[in-house]
Amino acid sequence: MTYPQRLSRARGRMRELGIDVLLLSVGPDLPYLTGYEAMPLERLTMLVLPREGEAVLVVPRLEAPRVQERPDAFRVEPWEETDDPIARVAAHATGAGEIAIGDHTWARFVLALQATLDGARFRPASEVTAPLRVVKDASEVEALAAAAAVVDGIVAEMRKRAFAGRTERDVHRELVELMLDGGHERSNFAIVASGPNAASPHHDPGERVIGDGDVVLCDFGGTMRGYCSDITRMFVVGEAARDVRDAYEVLVAAQEAGVRAALVGTACEDVDAAARRVIEDAGLGECFVHRTGHGIGMDAHEDPYIVAGNDSPLVPGNAFSIEPGIYVAGRFGLRLEDIVVATGGGPRRLNHAPRDIAVVG
Ligand code: ZN
Ligand code: ZN
Ligand code: ZN
Repeated sequence: MTYPQRLSRARGRMRELGIDVLLLSVGPDLPYLTGYEAMPLERLTMLVLPREGEAVLVVPRLEAPRVQERPDAFRVEPWEETDDPIARVAAHATGAGEIAIGDHTWARFVLALQATLDGARFRPASEVTAPLRVVKDASEVEALAAAAAVVDGIVAEMRKRAFAGRTERDVHRELVELMLDGGHERSNFAIVASGPNAASPHHDPGERVIGDGDVVLCDFGGTMRGYCSDITRMFVVGEAARDVRDAYEVLVAAQEAGVRAALVGTACEDVDAAARRVIEDAGLGECFVHRTGHGIGMDAHEDPYIVAGNDSPLVPGNAFSIEPGIYVAGRFGLRLEDIVVATGGGPRRLNHAPRDIAVVG
């Protein structure tokens, strides 16, 4: 889909919701609609998209050279160091009663705009953009698959490397480097959690030295051509303890059940329940402390969330993780994660790296 097509779909949503102006700054909504990503800086970048009429990208003069101009989609309006960018944006939004503003916009800009455009009602831009972004078109699925192929390749590479004697931070650094070498423009996270550290699902890689018998959780992802990768695989130095192997067998079955349940028309909460039931039936329900998955696209975490309470049915083009986990405090943590796309022909996994616990040196 082209940017003008996306902008016109956004305008369609604005008409449905009675929104006069959409304001977008940092975060993925802006690149989704215009191909331009704002720098997260104290200098304001903001797209002003009125329901009718021309869209304007208000951008700091020094960043204007980074903007790829798309006259069919928006006009670029650079502001000088001595200008007031809030006044610039407000000038394009005067008289608007209902304004939707990007969910990631810095509070200082939101507060300044609210003070200037008093009388307007502010709503989150996700009301407009989330329903568009949650359905990936063919080129977006291609981009997600390409990013997934890179992290699959990194898993294959890591299965050949030694972990013993290295710190978590060292392995973390290697994962980041491999993502960049593989064509990702950035790394978003690279969790390396060894032994009991993995019982904390979002452990910060530290100075712990990986030793014999350690089970190591690696959960990493980045952004390539604007779309995110995200994978979790397990490694063991030598041999894993009996209870770890037993729990992992349950986890693989739970993940498989989650993927198989991810059919078009199935509610997100039922996909979560399908994975969770396997872990509960094994008596480990209390060890699965998070939702089964999250949507993925230009954002590493976005709609649809695969969680109890989300009764939205999956539609073709939804892309999300299936990543159940089993965490035992003081002992170990296990997680297995793949990205899946819902299609009319059934769930399509984008990750294909082996799903066993890789034995490493
Ligand atoms: Zn996570
Ligand atoms: Zn992950
Ligand atoms: Zn994830």
